[in-house]
Amino acid sequence: MTLRVGVIGLGAMGAPMAAHLRARGLLAAVYNRTASRARAFAAEHGVPAAGSIAELGHRANAVLTCVSADADLLEVARELKLYLAPGTLVVDTSTVAPVTAREAAGILAPGRIDFLDAPVSGGVEGARSGALSVMVGGEAAVLERARPLLEAFAARITHMGPTGAGQATKAVNQVMVAGIAEAVCEALALSEKLGLDPERLLPTLAAGAAQSWFLEKRGATMLRNEFAVGFKLALLHKDLGIVRGIGESLGVPLPVVDKALADYGELLAAGFGEDDISGLIRLKRGELRRI
Ligand code: NAP
Repeated sequence: MTLRVGVIGLGAMGAPMAAHLRARGLLAAVYNRTASRARAFAAEHGVPAAGSIAELGHRANAVLTCVSADADLLEVARELKLYLAPGTLVVDTSTVAPVTAREAAGILAPGRIDFLDAPVSGGVEGARSGALSVMVGGEAAVLERARPLLEAFAARITHMGPTGAGQATKAVNQVMVAGIAEAVCEALALSEKLGLDPERLLPTLAAGAAQSWFLEKRGATMLRNEFAVGFKLALLHKDLGIVRGIGESLGVPLPVVDKALADYGELLAAGFGEDDISGLIRLKRGELRRI
């Protein structure tokens, strides 16, 4: 059966993923809570903008969701349950807790709507270039049906296990993302105090053992004080709350996560929640004490 995908959530990640689905001829309609965003996408890409989740549900036999947080996914799932036909596929690419993925699957299951948790890694650059790493939880047979949808924007698709296993993998990923950001922002703040030339420093570091996605993609911009999204630090703060909850439930101390949570909490309180996570360098420079 040909997939007719409806996308819910045209944010920094959802919009470029939807554009890839459009390019593959798989996109049936888009919906965004703030309707103007859906209308702008529809005008640019020549697809219908659904005025409601009900309308989207009628146009699609598969739905891709990319919303902010746990409560948002559950809200959307409760609405989808009302409007999707049995046999419809729901693929969630948001980052939420594994237990939330299982709850969303449980909301949809009585309507015989299949659910995959399919969080992604690779940033907005990965979404734009169609080179995301997708970590999937759910039934293998459901993943096979969803594969053409995921292939539209993925460089790698990995079936990690049952529902929630994709989000468990993403939690592990976010420990690394947060730790790398702590180290890179701290190091580059130090480089400024040392008066090192970024044009020579960054390629030199990137050619050695300190190389990372974050250094490569965000090193130069953070040194120029450019923090436009990217990955909003409010979202990483949300992710780290999930990770800490998982650590607590397993009795696993996560001191790197605790430090990052405290740092991003401080930045949020200072009003920088919409900045990219590289805005952490403000704190490492001691700028917040002066603001
Ligand atoms: P974003 O730019 O803030 O977009 C969030 C989207 O979710 C918007 O379209 C928003 O609609 C929609 N939304 C939020 N709450 C909703 C609700 N209750 N009902 C319906 N729609 C709702 O965020 P993003 O960067 O695309 O991230 C989306 C998800 O992907 C998050 O879970 C994030 O952690 C994850 N993620 C992000 C990145 C990244 O680099 N940015 C990478 C991997 C994973 P409005 O336009 O109305 O606000």
